[in-house]
Amino acid sequence: MLQGRVALVTGSTSGIGLGIATAMARHGAHVMLNGFGDVDAALAQVRAEAATHGSKVGYHGADMSKPAEIEAMMAACEAQLGAVDVLVNNAGIQYVANVEDFPVERWDAIIAINLSSAFHTMRLALPGMKRRNWGRVINLASVHGLVASAAKSAYVAAKHGIVGLTKAAALENATTGVTVNAICPGWVLTPLVQKQVDARAAKDGVDDEEAKRRLLAEKQPSLQFTTPDQLAGLALFLCSPAADNVRGVAWSVDGGWIAQ
Ligand code: NAD
Repeated sequence: MLQGRVALVTGSTSGIGLGIATAMARHGAHVMLNGFGDVDAALAQVRAEAATHGSKVGYHGADMSKPAEIEAMMAACEAQLGAVDVLVNNAGIQYVANVEDFPVERWDAIIAINLSSAFHTMRLALPGMKRRNWGRVINLASVHGLVASAAKSAYVAAKHGIVGLTKAAALENATTGVTVNAICPGWVLTPLVQKQVDARAAKDGVDDEEAKRRLLAEKQPSLQFTTPDQLAGLALFLCSPAADNVRGVAWSVDGGWIAQ
């Protein structure tokens, strides 16, 4: 389905981004990876899928909090794989503290990585998408783009911001073949959430399994984690012709979290 398309997924060395990048490669896209940590394992996983199509996989280690590095990544992607057709803004971090205790540098980092980075990748990718009259921008927002939780002010502000950015850009491109949408997951068991499970286990004096149960029971009525594979399935749908007229949505995959 994505044969010959170029997909760039930020923060794709782990969790949801890695799941989406793997699925894009499985469906024939050339894929540009980005992120920190175990880059070799991520590259190997995505290359294994790309090999069956003979498509290319690249990596750029841009820090998404740094606009100049984002510009370098976009240029490297175009030079190595071609211009970006599918842009998945996924890189994100979390920090949990009340507003008065929130470290200023954590606030700045969350706004930069979870929100401003998407502005920078979009401002660089949209002109080419518009010229070719086809493009897909998929922003990984969160249920926290729609509702709040205590002690997550920066994350909630950034995620509400990216839902707004998604809507504005969708409208700007509404008469073109470029769509811009957001995905809003509830709990997904990735390293980002495991940290919160660990904190819950320590706070409540319970084991890992019980901490997960409590975390889910508080917010997610299905009592099940959403998986990166399920989110990748939605991202693929948003790339399909069936989604040509899906524009500016904030699509929840949250086990009923915001239905409450
Ligand atoms: P994760 O920690 O597993 O992965 C985050 C990725 O972002 C990693 O590849 C990491 O290296 C990369 N990254 C972090 N800082 C970066 C930076 N400065 N520059 C470049 N890359 C950077 O997290 P995840 O759970 O897969 O989260 C992915 C996205 O989904 C985030 O935007 C997150 O807010 C969102 N999300 C996650 C959940 C969840 O429950 N896990 C729920 C809703 C939304």
